[in-house]
Amino acid sequence: MKEIEKAYEAKKYEDDIYKKWEKSGSFSPKKVKDKKPFVIAMPPPNATGTLHLGHATMLAVEDIMIRFKRMQGIPSLWIPGTDHASIATQNKVEKLVAERGETRHTMGREKFLEEVNEFVKKSQNTIRNQIRKMGSSCDWTRERYTLDAGLSKAVSEVFVRMYNDNLIYRGHRIVNWCVRCTSTLADDEVEFKEEKTKFYYIKYGPIVIGTARPETKFLDKIIVAHPDDKRYKKYFNKNFTIDWINGPIEATFLADKSADPEFGTGAMTLTPAHDFLDFDLAKKHKLEIVQIIGQDGNFTDIVGKQFAGKNARASREAIVKILQEKGLIDRIEENYVHNLSVCYRCGTPVEPLVSEQWFVDVNKAVIKEGDKKVSLKKRAIDVVKKGKIEIIPDRFNKIYFHWLNDLRDWCISRQIWFGHRMPVWYCQSDNKKATCSKPIVQVKAPTKCPGCGSNKLEQESDTLDTWFSSGLWTFSTLGWPDKSEDLDYFHPTAVLETGYDILFFWVARMILMTNYALGEIPFKQVYLHGLVRDKNGKKMSKSAGNGIDPLDMIEKFGTDAVRLSLVIGTSAGNDFRLYEEKIAGYRNFVNKIWNSARFAFMNMPDNTPQKFLKSHIKSHADKWILTKLQLLIKEVNVDMENYHFSEAGTKIYNFTWGIYCDWYLEMSKGEHMNPEVLVFVLKSLLKLLHPFVPFVTESLWNHLEVGTMLINEEWPVYDKTLVFTKEAKELEDIMEIINSIRSIRAEKGVEPARKINATIYGGNKTKLIQAKESIIKRMARLENLTIAAKGEKLPKALWKYVNGIDIYLPVEDLFDIAQEVIRMKKKLEEISKKADSIGSRINNPNFVERAPKELVEKEKKQHEELTAEISSLQKQINELQNLHN
Ligand SMILES: [Zn+2]
Ligand SMILES: [Zn+2]
Repeated sequence: MKEIEKAYEAKKYEDDIYKKWEKSGSFSPKKVKDKKPFVIAMPPPNATGTLHLGHATMLAVEDIMIRFKRMQGIPSLWIPGTDHASIATQNKVEKLVAERGETRHTMGREKFLEEVNEFVKKSQNTIRNQIRKMGSSCDWTRERYTLDAGLSKAVSEVFVRMYNDNLIYRGHRIVNWCVRCTSTLADDEVEFKEEKTKFYYIKYGPIVIGTARPETKFLDKIIVAHPDDKRYKKYFNKNFTIDWINGPIEATFLADKSADPEFGTGAMTLTPAHDFLDFDLAKKHKLEIVQIIGQDGNFTDIVGKQFAGKNARASREAIVKILQEKGLIDRIEENYVHNLSVCYRCGTPVEPLVSEQWFVDVNKAVIKEGDKKVSLKKRAIDVVKKGKIEIIPDRFNKIYFHWLNDLRDWCISRQIWFGHRMPVWYCQSDNKKATCSKPIVQVKAPTKCPGCGSNKLEQESDTLDTWFSSGLWTFSTLGWPDKSEDLDYFHPTAVLETGYDILFFWVARMILMTNYALGEIPFKQVYLHGLVRDKNGKKMSKSAGNGIDPLDMIEKFGTDAVRLSLVIGTSAGNDFRLYEEKIAGYRNFVNKIWNSARFAFMNMPDNTPQKFLKSHIKSHADKWILTKLQLLIKEVNVDMENYHFSEAGTKIYNFTWGIYCDWYLEMSKGEHMNPEVLVFVLKSLLKLLHPFVPFVTESLWNHLEVGTMLINEEWPVYDKTLVFTKEAKELEDIMEIINSIRSIRAEKGVEPARKINATIYGGNKTKLIQAKESIIKRMARLENLTIAAKGEKLPKALWKYVNGIDIYLPVEDLFDIAQEVIRMKKKLEEISKKADSIGSRINNPNFVERAPKELVEKEKKQHEELTAEISSLQKQINELQNLHN
């Protein structure tokens, strides 16, 4: 018998337990030949970030996966790390240096980067410790950072290989440009914000054009319409002199099938340097592409003195005024709704413009597949189509294919300083030869120009898109490009677990990059978790003030409770709701686990053997609990293997609370039970609970003093020799009796402390019932219990029939019939009144039409419930009156 602390205080235990796990080396798997490992590459949080609910969800789910596999004896590796997140981190530090009046430009590249790296170093510890706070059992000895030396080498290696394969090229292309971040953005880094604006119809020679951005039209010189458009046939290939913003210009009318006769006036002008579609058209017709807006968002000199150097968007009204004065404005539509594209990092409107950038060609056939070669894009589609990679839930396949089919060449260059600088050098010699114009692309920095031998070299100033490095995450973290045992043994990884919101940003790019670099898939499964929403299903955000800080919740309720609230009731790919009461509810469950174990400890003799002998199982209760436990183990194993963590967690939760605590431990009070079985069941339960609530279970395991750590224990497997169907069924009959009596007591409002009498006719189960008399009496709170095989129907008694057993409870023990009838009639009257008043409202067409829909629905539902209650009450009153007579 031993006493443990009365209440579980998570705060007192969690940090120490984590330290013990980490120190013990339990997080680092041993490579076992012939045993397939289970590996997860943790999606790296931003090095300068803090833990948010998305991370918390990811960590909880992945830790459950890893602990489960580890306990199954599978070498399980979870690689942690952080991402340098170039744009986000640079923005942060730029804000910091701005506070003291500096910019990155006043500081210079080297000094600025020094400061960024210092900042990262300091804040990296924050996120590391927060990952630990969640109980994540990841292998810290293998921790990586996307910008560490090894990963940088991997990045350069892939870049150089791709360049040599002509997959990476440099070209003038139209890109999404963020004026504030002064960098390009990938297509999927652009967000769309619905906006109301003015839409202008402007007379342009023989046609009228429509645009929301007249300021981009300065140098439009090409008009396009569909070749079959009869309205414009007479104009095709003709030139016009048109009065325009800066005076007369020469314009040409072209025919092209891409013009939509149904849209607007059917004719449009081209702005090749600032519109993606116009750019493609201009390329096709070999037209001049002139940039009128620069990377600072200001007009270039080419627009003329009046506007050169001025912000383009801010000049809109002034330009419209000029057009108006010239009588060129046909009409203006107010409140035109359109999607404004904005930067996903800072919300600034994106300025499409032409610039020289680096791209990855996604359509060039370069990956070997048998005798032929396929493109990055095709391979990425094929591996999912052929089932080599499974996306869970599979409805995301469609979205994945759709995105890849639409994928254009990936712009990988960024004009920010923090990140992987491209392994590209240019000859700056004063005596350049013809060959000097070719960029030098190699992993190691060159010392001289291969063309002219000059040592005047300059490295490309652009850095790589962050996703370029995180795209290599599963294998660069295992030592690639060097040969490494880790890489051989642990790659491909088993599953990538992440939020569905980065399926394209990241997951798809990992598939592209890994297939190229290694010729294999990065992972076999993709498990996408849902996003966390608030109590009302709204997205959490800082501005709405409805966010929950997981660290606050850990402080308040403990990590185990937070983990449960992020897993139970959720399923792959579906958003879920989180709120404090929910977490508090799971805190109660964690306490329940503690209390039940505490009770078990107190009922365990000191010398209870840790191994139990099957020959010692004798009592009904022991056989029943062992049977229930085996069934639980069987089902939970299926759920866990299929990533149905919510189902598994719910089943363990229900077993712990409903079966183990409410029945098994209750039955054991005052009843002799085999302590060996109690220990066995408790241990098995702690094991099953461990992946979900690692801290409280490890603390309790520690109290068992078996000298091991639960994290390394063996996962329970189904043992059919511990299933006793017959005895379990028999005990369940007894429980049914107790349940029936309890439910009548509850229905009739009998106080828990009051004991009542009962008569049971047990038929062929009489012997069993007699044997369990004391349990029934104690748990159903009976004073006298008469048991017989059969007998007369008792008068003035409530009767219940379960599984061939008659139960009679004398009414006089339960309540005074006359009083009860009066009470119920009164209640009936009250409810009827209420039902009538609601009924008249919902039958009033005026109300139904005018009131909010939700209110009408609510009232209707309430009316239904009241009606049901009325008929139930009436039935009960009739029954009572029959008894009375
Ligand atoms: Zn931006
Ligand atoms: Zn040279």
